[in-house]
Amino acid sequence: MIRAMNCTKCKTKAALKLPRHHAAFCKNCFNSFVHDQVHKAIRSQKMFEKTDRLLVAVSGGKDSLALWDILLKLGYKTDGLYVNLGIGGYSESSREKVVHFSETVAAGYGAVLHVHTVDREEGAGIRELAIIVNRPTCSTCGTIKRYQFNHAAIRHGYDVMATGHNLDDEAARLLGNVLHWQAEYLEKQGPSLPASVDGFAKKVKPLYRLTERELAAYCVLNKIDYVVEECPMAQGARTLLYKEVLNRLETESPGTKQMFYWGFLEKSGTTETPTSIAEKDRSSLHPCSNCGQPTTAETCSYCKLMARAKTSTLL
Ligand code: SF4
Ligand SMILES: [Zn+2]
Ligand SMILES: [Zn+2]
Repeated sequence: MIRAMNCTKCKTKAALKLPRHHAAFCKNCFNSFVHDQVHKAIRSQKMFEKTDRLLVAVSGGKDSLALWDILLKLGYKTDGLYVNLGIGGYSESSREKVVHFSETVAAGYGAVLHVHTVDREEGAGIRELAIIVNRPTCSTCGTIKRYQFNHAAIRHGYDVMATGHNLDDEAARLLGNVLHWQAEYLEKQGPSLPASVDGFAKKVKPLYRLTERELAAYCVLNKIDYVVEECPMAQGARTLLYKEVLNRLETESPGTKQMFYWGFLEKSGTTETPTSIAEKDRSSLHPCSNCGQPTTAETCSYCKLMARAKTSTLL
């Protein structure tokens, strides 16, 4: 079917069909489309400027490597941060993909890769740490990643921290938050969260206008080698179920995901930097008594987690 199609823009042979845009593109026009969507995201959400220094969190998966590639090609000064979670073979192959991209592509733009290794810095891999502190692996992982991303951004003087969350991720998260009416999370679902206080980096999601499938296609067409398997801890996560449901809807009615998430952004007024959220956060945040990073409690959740891990006889 694809063989018979021509590119909507230049009429040469199409490489990919995009039902949600009623279009088909050749490689060059698809790359322009992807760059255009990211450019629109950056501009409409006032994410950053060409003079800003960006740090992108790279996991070795398609989204974050595509993001690093796109930002470099669009002319943004973007370095990478890889957090090695110490999950056996998965972490080993994701590390290889990140290092390979960094050396073969990013280095050509003068970009550098920062690496944080959890079992070296925190004393054990993420699964072992979760057992020691008796908490679910993904929540332990979330606490450590959030802390280390922010820590690295502040320590190395980056203006903005970018992550590879795509339209599928954001629509699935929104569905979960709506199903449970988690109003406080809904407030923070925008793709651009300002630096609420000193010591907190601004966080942005420049891929929120692109789907998982489009980003996989971008990597394949541009020969970006990424780790295909999901993190083994993700099995059975709620988000995967929400993604499946949204994919069913998307097949029946192309454009559903974007209508859902972009529609939410429009209706909730989060197409602009949500300064009201920043102000609200500012009033409740203060430096952690141990590490100085902003927190709403006396001690931040990372320091609490590490204190708990250290009191265990296993560490
Ligand atoms: S799925 Fe893996 S990477 Fe994602 S939060 Fe869980 S442990 Fe961390
Ligand atoms: Zn074309
Ligand atoms: Zn702390």
